[in-house]
Amino acid sequence: MDNTYWNDNGKHQAEYKRLIELMPGSGASTVVAGELIRAVSRLGYDLYNNGMGNNTSGAVNMLRELGAISDELHYTIHPYTRGRLYEGNYAGDSLQSAIEAACDSTIEHILAHPELETETNMHDMFEWQEEEEIFCEECGDSNDDVQWSLWGHTCRDCEDEFERAEEEEEREREEEEERMRLEDEEDEDA
Ligand SMILES: [Zn+2]
Repeated sequence: MDNTYWNDNGKHQAEYKRLIELMPGSGASTVVAGELIRAVSRLGYDLYNNGMGNNTSGAVNMLRELGAISDELHYTIHPYTRGRLYEGNYAGDSLQSAIEAACDSTIEHILAHPELETETNMHDMFEWQEEEEIFCEECGDSNDDVQWSLWGHTCRDCEDEFERAEEEEEREREEEEERMRLEDEEDEDA
């Protein structure tokens, strides 16, 4: 995908460049438009530089909450914002397309509401941040059942499976020992 903001080739690239100037070097922006741009560029930065490894849930939640992106875009992006890694190849899949579209949408929202460029920002995108998800190291599932066990972070199902496998091994070892013992007895009898 070549037409990206990170390739300097986004749909509203000139406006993006202008609006990004509203963003402070660090911390929240003093104006609403600056905080919206800060949020959407955090998503892009994380996609292109960290494979979505950082917690960007605050950014995507704020953009929806303040009406800069649709529920649909939020729905596509949100699952990748709490630690689930992006495993695509940046060739225009649904996540990459959604983040680019979120950028278009945020800029269009600001252009439609120019007062946002001067309106005092009372928020910080991190206010909307959710907790990081924990994934099962075995199957990759994420749910409330994932916990720390003898085998690392595992879900209940995988932990049961590991336990079954260990019991099976133990049983085989015992059967083998029993077989050897019987053989020894037979040898002694002979
Ligand atoms: Zn699992």
